[in-house]
Amino acid sequence: MYDTLKKVFGFQSFRPNQEAIIKNILEKKDVFAVMPTGGGKSLCYQLPARMMKGTTVVISPLISLMKDQVDAAIENGMSAAFLNSSLSTQEMSAVFKQLKENDLELLYIAPERFAMPSFLETLKSLPISLFAIDEAHCVSEWGHDFRPDYLSLSNLTQTFPHIPVSAFTATATPKVQKDIISKIRLRSPHIIRASFNRQNLFYQVKSKIGLESQIMEFLKEHADEPGIIYRTTRDSVFRLTEFLVDQGISALPYHAGLSPEERNRNQEAFSRDRATIIVATIAFGMGIDKSNVRFVIHADLPKNIEGYYQETGRAGRDGETANCLLFFGRQDIPKIRYFIDQIPNENERSISMDKLNKSVKYASHNVCRRRQLLEYFGENYAEENCGACDICMGNVEKVDITIDAQIVMSAISRTGQYFGTKHIIDIVAGADTKRIRELQHNEIKTYGAGKHKEKKHWQFIVDELLAQEAIAQDGGQYPVLVLTKKGTDILLGREGIEGLKREEIKKKPKAFKVSGFEPYDEPLFDKLRVLRKRLAEEHKVPPYIIFSDMTLHEMCIYYPSTLEDMITISGVGDTKLERYGTDFTKEIKAHLDVNPDISIPERKPVAIPVSTPQQKAKGGTIEKTYDLSKEGLSIKEIAKARNLATSTITGHLESLIKDGRDIAIDRLIDPAKRNTIEEMFVALKTWNTGPIVEHSKGTVNYDEAKLVRAWIYVQQKV
Ligand code: ADP
Ligand code: MG
Ligand code: ZN
Repeated sequence: MYDTLKKVFGFQSFRPNQEAIIKNILEKKDVFAVMPTGGGKSLCYQLPARMMKGTTVVISPLISLMKDQVDAAIENGMSAAFLNSSLSTQEMSAVFKQLKENDLELLYIAPERFAMPSFLETLKSLPISLFAIDEAHCVSEWGHDFRPDYLSLSNLTQTFPHIPVSAFTATATPKVQKDIISKIRLRSPHIIRASFNRQNLFYQVKSKIGLESQIMEFLKEHADEPGIIYRTTRDSVFRLTEFLVDQGISALPYHAGLSPEERNRNQEAFSRDRATIIVATIAFGMGIDKSNVRFVIHADLPKNIEGYYQETGRAGRDGETANCLLFFGRQDIPKIRYFIDQIPNENERSISMDKLNKSVKYASHNVCRRRQLLEYFGENYAEENCGACDICMGNVEKVDITIDAQIVMSAISRTGQYFGTKHIIDIVAGADTKRIRELQHNEIKTYGAGKHKEKKHWQFIVDELLAQEAIAQDGGQYPVLVLTKKGTDILLGREGIEGLKREEIKKKPKAFKVSGFEPYDEPLFDKLRVLRKRLAEEHKVPPYIIFSDMTLHEMCIYYPSTLEDMITISGVGDTKLERYGTDFTKEIKAHLDVNPDISIPERKPVAIPVSTPQQKAKGGTIEKTYDLSKEGLSIKEIAKARNLATSTITGHLESLIKDGRDIAIDRLIDPAKRNTIEEMFVALKTWNTGPIVEHSKGTVNYDEAKLVRAWIYVQQKV
C-alpha cells in the first residue's frame, strides 16, 4: 500500500481515513465513505485499482469530472479510460478493446450505462476488481444533486454478487446516508465518516459596504491567485465580471443563462489557469476538480449553510492554505426571503426560513466560524481558538451590554412581541415614521431611549441577543422578535449579559499558522507555475494535474535539483518524475545559480497526520489499556488480558504517547533499539512504518516502529 502510494501517487502519507478505507476495499468489503471535498476520495479507489487484479469501474456523474480524473490517473502512469457520450464510435471501440484485453486499471462510466443490458453482459464476462460510486449522494432524492439515472445502480450488488462496491460522497446527512446505502444495497458496508473540518481554509466575514472596491482590495492582495466569486443572480454575475475586466483582471462569467458551449469554455479556461477568476452563480462548481483554487468569495449572503460549506469547500483541495470570504449585508436577507415566500408548501417554506436564519447567524455572530460550520453538521469542535478564522484571529473585547439589552427588550415587550427588528430599532432610536405614529409607538416609555447611539449599534445589540438566544425570531414570513426565558430574566434584572465587540482585523497575516504550513520561495514558485502551465498546454491537461500547488510549494522549500531529491517531494511519483522531473530540476538549478545566497534546509520527515475524532471517541477502551500498562504489563500481556490483537493495543499506546500520557516507553522498547529506529525514520525521510520494517530486514516490526514514531512526535512537540 505504502509502496504504491509513493510510486504511483508520489505521496509519503495517507490523509485521514484513506488507509482504513483502502484496507477494507482490499479485503473485498463494501465501503461507504463520507469525506469532505479535497479529502482525497479518488485515491481511495485508484490505489486499490492498481493493487487488485482486474478493472475498477468508477461511476461518476459528469463528463468533465471523468475526463479530468482519467487525465490525472494517466499522468500518474495508470491505465485509465472513460466511456460516455462525448466519444466517437471509434474511440468507444478502442476503449472496449482495451477493456476486453484486460488492459485497464480504471474505467470511468456514467450511471446510464448500467441501464444497458449489453454493457452489463460485457462487464459480467470480465474480471472486475471493484465498483466505485463517486458523488454517491446523486443516488439519493434527499441529496442536492439527485440524478435519476443513478437509480439504475440498485441492481449492482445482485448482478455482481462477488465484487466489492464502495460509495463516496462529500455530503451526507444521516438521512441521505441511509438512503444511499439502501438504494445501492450495500452489504453491511464499512462506514467511514471523516471530520468535516478543513483546517487549511481561513474563514472570514466582512460587512458589505462598497462591494466592488472591497473585492478589488482583496484581489490586489491576492494577485494571480485563482479564485471563485459567487453571486446570487445572473445579472450581478454579468455586472461584476464586466467591472473586473474593466479593472484589468482576467475574469470570466458562469451562469445558467450562458450557452452550454460558453459555460464549458469558461470553466475550462479557469481550470487550465487561462482565466484567473470565475464569477459565478451557484450553478458553478460540481463539474470541477481544480485543486489550486486559492479563494472563494461570497459576494452575497448564502441561503443556507450546506451550500456555503460546499461552495467554500472548493477552495484549497490541494491542502494548501486558502481563503473563504463572505460579504454580509442585511439588505440581502429580504431578497432571499422573497424567494422563500414563493415556496407553496408551508413546511418547506419554514425549513428554508430556518436555514436562512442559521446562515444569518453564521455571518453575524461573534463565534468562531469553523465551530459554527462544524456544529451545523453535528460535529463538536473542541479547540478554543481555531487559529484560522476572523473571530479567532481578531481583537475581541467583552463588554457589558445589559442596559442596552434591556432597552431593546423593553421595546419588544411593550409592543406585545408583535414586531420585527426594523420596527423595534426604529422605536429605540426614536425614529419618526408613519408606522410609529399610526401605532402610537411614540407614546411608549422606551421610545427614543437609545437615540444617543447609532442605529448600527442597536442592530449589533439585536444580533447579539439573537446569538445568545435572549430573544428569538418567530413566524416565517414576517418574523417578529420575541423574548425567551433568558431574555425575560435579563429584562427583569435577574441576569446580566455581555457582548463581544470585535475590531475587524485590518490585515490578515499572509500565512496563518496551521501546523505544517511553511513559507516558501515565492519568486521560484512563480517560475515553476509558468513552467507547469507551459507543460500543461503541451500535454493538454489542466496544470494542477501535472503538479499541485502543494507539490510546487514543497519544491520551493527544499529546492530539489537532482532527480534523487525530486522523488522525495510529495506528489512526485515514478511516472511524473520521468515525465517532468528534468524540466523542474533544471528550472530550480537555474534559480539557485542566480540566487547563490539561498541555503537549502535539511529535509525533515513529513508531519504525522493528526488524530481523527473517531480515534478520540474510543476513550474508554484506551483507558483500560493505559491502566494495564501502568501495572507494568507488556503489549502481549495486555493483548491477552483484554482479548484484543497486539496491533490494537499498540494503537492505544500510540494515542496515549501522542497525548503526552506517562507511558514508560523504555519498558515497551529497548532504548538502543529505539535509537536505531529513530535514525531510520530520519534517514528514510518518511513517517510511514512500512519502509522502516522493510529496511530493517526483519529486525523491527510494525508495532515497534509505530511506538517509536509516536514517541518522536511527542519529543518534537516539546
Ligand atoms: P475529493 O474527491 O475528496 O474532493 P480528490 O480526490 O480530488 O478529493 O483529492 C484532492 C487533492 O488531494 C488532489 O490534489 C489529490 O492529489 C490530493 N491528495 C489525495 N490524497 C493525498 C495524500 N495522501 N497526500 C497528499 N495529497 C493527496
Ligand atoms: Mg472527488
Ligand atoms: Zn475560529
